[in-house]
Amino acid sequence: MANLSEAEIREVVSQVLGKMQAPAAADWDSTHYGSRKFVGIYDDMNEAIKAADAGYRAVRAMSVEQREAIITEIRRLTRAEAPTMAQLGVAETGMGRVEHKRLKHILVADKTPGTEDIVSNARTGDNGLTLVEMAPFGVVGAITPSTNPSETVICNSIGMIAAGNGVVFNPHPNAIATSNYAVDLVNRACKAAGGPDVLVCSMVKPTLDSAAIMQSHPLIRLLVCTGGPGVVRAVLSSGKKAIGAGAGNPPVIVDDTADIAKAGKDIIDGCTFDNNLPCIAEKEVFAFRNIADELISVMLKNGAYLIDAQQADKLAQIVLVEKTDKKGNVRKIVNRDCVGRDADVLLAKIGVKVSKDIRCIICETDFNHPFVQEELMMPILPIVRVDNIDQAIDLAVKAEHGNRHTAHMHSKNIDHLSRFARAVETTIFVKNAPSYAGIGFGGEGHATFTIAGPTGEGITSARSFTRQRRCVMADSFRII
Ligand code: NAD
Repeated sequence: MANLSEAEIREVVSQVLGKMQAPAAADWDSTHYGSRKFVGIYDDMNEAIKAADAGYRAVRAMSVEQREAIITEIRRLTRAEAPTMAQLGVAETGMGRVEHKRLKHILVADKTPGTEDIVSNARTGDNGLTLVEMAPFGVVGAITPSTNPSETVICNSIGMIAAGNGVVFNPHPNAIATSNYAVDLVNRACKAAGGPDVLVCSMVKPTLDSAAIMQSHPLIRLLVCTGGPGVVRAVLSSGKKAIGAGAGNPPVIVDDTADIAKAGKDIIDGCTFDNNLPCIAEKEVFAFRNIADELISVMLKNGAYLIDAQQADKLAQIVLVEKTDKKGNVRKIVNRDCVGRDADVLLAKIGVKVSKDIRCIICETDFNHPFVQEELMMPILPIVRVDNIDQAIDLAVKAEHGNRHTAHMHSKNIDHLSRFARAVETTIFVKNAPSYAGIGFGGEGHATFTIAGPTGEGITSARSFTRQRRCVMADSFRII
């Protein structure tokens, strides 16, 4: 039998997954999946922190080799159970695509750095030897989102355990079963590799109150928050050392030197990955006027559906809703019932029936349209025509809103590429590829689901969760 190509294997997996039944809601909740009771899940945050502290002390007593054995087992279980977590994630949150969530778990298993990321530094001279080592913080309090729930729990766990920390999670309430499935997976891996029963912990019912306890508890030495602007702000004002991975609104520029056939396909592939849930995914396009028609026609051949201005306004009335804040100001926020939904489901809301082959809704808008300004996290992609590179950069930088998160560009003009990269100052800048190349999927570099722009750690990994310690031996141990 001929060997299957990677694309063919993916297609087969995708078809099998499509036929698999989503797990029935009665079979899982935040404490169990089927007959398996989750380990490390607590009713009370104080109890969870105590257990995570015991986990930390157990990790401290381990050799690096033992830690790495646990991480190897986490990787193995993540690969094996990726289809289950992908199914559960979609079933619980109603968001995203099963096959893409499966791929995200495989990416985490394969490309999240382990203990090799922790590197010591030595300096020798006339006055002896000074050693700088990357030490654990202790117990990390981690807040995780609904958009990549189990992916973030596993990715954070690998990095934090590699660094020698214990972890307590306060996951997003809307994805608590999926997040706690991942917490249990990490604990199962730990036990299988000869570690304690409980290494990482979470809550039966996470709330803002349990997050507040975590933020002020004396045993929590580091807070790591992956989520929207509200929660990142809360964590950064806690008074503790915090790593904040916040919202983005990644713009894409396409100029008239780009390979338009590739750009159109790459943009639709990136924008529709897990129905646009990743914070790095393409959210709005600024296309040179002289290639915009061609770009749109390529997109249409790659699963996009073009709606007109009236339809776009009608859709905006549905996917954005008004909310009154505490000060009485009314503002538009995304309708949670539309986030991460399939394009055909969103189109049906404005009376347009299309097949499941349609994966993205595109429309031409002006710069001020809410589709450009808001981080929708849905497969809706506005396209704004621009006259030249100056205008493209000016508008794209404004649309990114100073998040300094992620931006993309399709161009062969190195001056244009350099100018945009300098102006937008994002943590991730992807050139001539789909957005996910920026987290190691089809691009070089390690993977993370916690991209810490506001606090500067960037593409986080084990070393981000360490503190430096210096050990000085005066006048000795220099061997030359
Ligand atoms: P969200 O902001 O709704 O919630 C994130 C988590 O914070 C949840 O656990 C929630 O319960 C909790 N929370 C919310 N407000 C809080 C507060 N004041 N104090 C304590 N906890 C609080 O996130 P979401 O909708 O699941 O995720 C989407 C957002 O997260 C998007 O803005 C996206 O860009 C961002 N995100 C960023 C990254 C990154 O790496 N930078 C990764 C994923 C998601």
